Amino acid sequence: MQLNYCVQCGKPLIHKVIGDEGEQKYCADCDRFYFDDPACCVLVTIINEHGQVLLLKQNYISEKSYNLCSGYVQKGETLEETVAREVLEETGQTVLSCQYVRSYFYEPKNLIMAGFIAYVKASGFIKSNEVDDLMWEDIVKAADMVERVRNYCGVHLDLCRKRIDEKKLRAMNSSPKTGDAK
Ligand SMILES: [Zn+2]
Repeated sequence: MQLNYCVQCGKPLIHKVIGDEGEQKYCADCDRFYFDDPACCVLVTIINEHGQVLLLKQNYISEKSYNLCSGYVQKGETLEETVAREVLEETGQTVLSCQYVRSYFYEPKNLIMAGFIAYVKASGFIKSNEVDDLMWEDIVKAADMVERVRNYCGVHLDLCRKRIDEKKLRAMNSSPKTGDAK
């Protein structure tokens, strides 16, 4: 969050050097430093038992390209809990397990994005208001459909293609509970 005024007394903040952190915002009256902390969110490549990726059509981002699942971390959540909640809210899929890949800094929104792969067994879609359409797509084909200019979806998908845990996919397919035939 970008702060310009002290949240305690309301006076404008000045800049002051603090140890190794360099120049930071400071209220002289309250003797308190403020940091422009980034917001935190997750960026998730959802993979089903057939190795397909779930693409989200979100017209408010782009009319043409597709996105991966993403969302803000809420207070009290671990990153893994955010992944499970966002995937369920935006797509209706239940995350069986997830794997951290890497993080990205998105400067326009001062956003730190934790990139994950989430493994799910494909089930019926449930969309949130932010999602216009959902589709399972072959991961090679998905690479040509995903957004590559406005956000990190393309970069993250490319990285996830190399990190998918084939053993996990095999385990999901050999599970006796498998309900959906393909
Ligand atoms: Zn103050």
